[in-house]
Amino acid sequence: MIAAAASRIREHHAWLSQLDCVAGDGDHGSAMMRTVDRLEKAFGRNTPSDLRTIFSEAGWSVMGADGGASTSLLGAFFLGIGEATAAGVSSWNCQSLADAFRAGLAAVQAQTKAVPGDKTMMDALTPAVAALAKAASAGHDVAQAFGEAALEAKTGAERTQDMVARLGRARLLGEKTRGSQDPGAASIALLFEGFYQGVRESEGDASNA
Ligand code: ADP
Ligand code: MG
Repeated sequence: MIAAAASRIREHHAWLSQLDCVAGDGDHGSAMMRTVDRLEKAFGRNTPSDLRTIFSEAGWSVMGADGGASTSLLGAFFLGIGEATAAGVSSWNCQSLADAFRAGLAAVQAQTKAVPGDKTMMDALTPAVAALAKAASAGHDVAQAFGEAALEAKTGAERTQDMVARLGRARLLGEKTRGSQDPGAASIALLFEGFYQGVRESEGDASNA
């Protein structure tokens, strides 16, 4: 999941910076490159036998990537997922995954008052996390849940195109931000698309084994 998400970000980093040139200071692509480097290092260091440790370490590491808005918020997201997971847990079903990701979202919400409609990453993250919960209640499996979450994240990110930024650096640019997606929301959509792709590929590996 992390590897697939990282390659999505690397393929699109120039576009992410371009979006941030319209709505910010043009550094979002490089901030996301640092984020996925740190995620891969953290997940590579640990065996996935303890999700609490792995997500918490990844969260701290991303938070320390630089002083930017997106790295602090994404770091909080991964740390929130880790802290909500009991020690020793090594796998999630769809419901526990949805609960963990909801805790990650709550940790981000503790850092920002942004809500959907403000043209930030919350426009993609909030509906993606809601889709995981909905999938869990409907009895869907983890791969289906990520598929639905990825679609919601992408739709949410695309919706930011018609919005005017009200928060973050982009708020200073107001009307000029209309017509272009929010970079942070675009990144969330790429991350969830990667998660979905990664889960599908690992299921393929498992069924081929
Ligand atoms: P910086 O704004 O510090 O240069 P980045 O360019 O890496 O950081 O990330 C910008 C993205 O971070 C925005 O597109 C937006 O999605 C998100 N963001 C910035 N400020 C906030 C905020 N206060 N609340 C939620 N998301 C935010
Ligand atoms: Mg920026």
